[in-house]
Amino acid sequence: MDVRSFWLAGRPATGDRELTVTNSHDGRVVGTYSVPTDAQVEEAVAAAAAVQKEAAALPVHVRAEALAHVAKRLAERHEEIAQLITGENGKPIFWARGEVNRAISTFRFAAEETRRWSGGVQRLDTEPAAAGRLAYVSRQPKGPVLAITPFNFPLNLVAHKVAPAIAVGAPVIVKPAPATPLSSLVLGEILAETDLPAGMFSVLPVENERASALVQDPRLPVVSFTGSGPVGYAIMDQVPRKHVTLELGGNAAAVVLADADLDWAASRVTLFSNYQAGQSCIAVQRVIVEESVRAAFEEKLVEAVAGLVTGDPLDEKTQVGPLVSVAAAERVAAWVDEAVASGARVLAGGTRDGATVAPTVLTDVPADAKVSCEEVFGPVMIVKPVASVDEAFAEVNSSKYGLQAGVFTRSLDVAFRANRELEVGGVIIGDVPSYRADQMPYGGVKESGVGREGVHSAMEDLTYEKVMVLTGL
Ligand code: NAD
Repeated sequence: MDVRSFWLAGRPATGDRELTVTNSHDGRVVGTYSVPTDAQVEEAVAAAAAVQKEAAALPVHVRAEALAHVAKRLAERHEEIAQLITGENGKPIFWARGEVNRAISTFRFAAEETRRWSGGVQRLDTEPAAAGRLAYVSRQPKGPVLAITPFNFPLNLVAHKVAPAIAVGAPVIVKPAPATPLSSLVLGEILAETDLPAGMFSVLPVENERASALVQDPRLPVVSFTGSGPVGYAIMDQVPRKHVTLELGGNAAAVVLADADLDWAASRVTLFSNYQAGQSCIAVQRVIVEESVRAAFEEKLVEAVAGLVTGDPLDEKTQVGPLVSVAAAERVAAWVDEAVASGARVLAGGTRDGATVAPTVLTDVPADAKVSCEEVFGPVMIVKPVASVDEAFAEVNSSKYGLQAGVFTRSLDVAFRANRELEVGGVIIGDVPSYRADQMPYGGVKESGVGREGVHSAMEDLTYEKVMVLTGL
């Protein structure tokens, strides 16, 4: 098996060590990659710093063509990349293909958005003292971006940082997750086919200690991090003067009200509690259901969960595959055991086989059990009955997290109330909290993070408004 190069200032390079990536379902070796040395990391940072002026001045058509090229090549290499994602991450091939589709969209949106991205003009002569003056307002890149990404969407979450950076003319250094670096290395290969200047991008699969040194490097003023809260907040504490964007975790809630279509709600909640074995920051974890429809809803839920096909992620029929590692599955199973020991009832699942946790539904779960108040990141949901809409919304807001919430209702009044009252970055009416379109603003409040992604929002996040005042007009 060939050793994959990493990408140093736009060209392939090899370091002094190799690491191997394995599949959590069957332990097979999926790929081997080369790890950069300290000197090579230094070279990549120096190149990013050196190219920033050229990058910021890059003509829009060059940026747009590079982004469109990436979208086109991802489409051409679609199946190969999907297989690689399933190999390194363990997600079923159906979802891996979906992730490649999403990454294609992310690059397409960025190619379109960069063409629309231009400054504005503001008249200042609204006050006598500013007569004859005009302000030209543009957005400038804050500087080279360090993009640190998690294992659960190894391609599209890298795309969500790389595409907006290129769109605004900012150099970017990607530090992928150690479990899943391979698809980002393929992305590097595709980026290298474009006309972007050398130094504009690097993909450095370094270990966490070296990543920490990168975080502290003053030549990388922007840190865009997606991952867990403890790591994200530790990074923010390390570099309080940098621009740090944190896309963190959650224990997302789906509220099922009495007026909802219960069949639709049960099928969506089942699918999105278990997609990618629950390893999504917006996977359904808490299902908050109005008491009057609880029994009927639970029955539909248990039936839907029983219909899920668990198994080999490369099998076309598999809906729920393994977690990213046996250790991750052991942790999830231990949390389920803890809830059961403290009084929870198991409506479905509750078992583990190697890295695979059976789709699990719990109810009567104490509020302080980890599966209630922490992020499970596994195929586990808890059902919580409530007496009213008030109680349902209070329950959603009882979480320390606030990424997205879903509300199954047919009432427009309740929808607008949810939008006003729920302490989250996104409210999804008529569907699960797990809904995300790649162009929409996306991010959390409370301990789910700071800042917004989604192509346009990320472009704003990576830039600052700059004003030029013209005098004597
Ligand atoms: P993680 O926090 O363990 O790792 C994330 C990244 O940080 C990895 O690349 C890791 O190598 C790196 N890292 C770890 N220690 C570091 C350090 N000291 N300095 C610099 N980098 C360091 O997260 P994970 O397990 O890969 O991903 C799962 C988490 O990501 C979950 O909490 C999930 O909710 C969150 N997530 C959030 C979003 C979102 O958009 N809000 C999306 C996907 C995943």
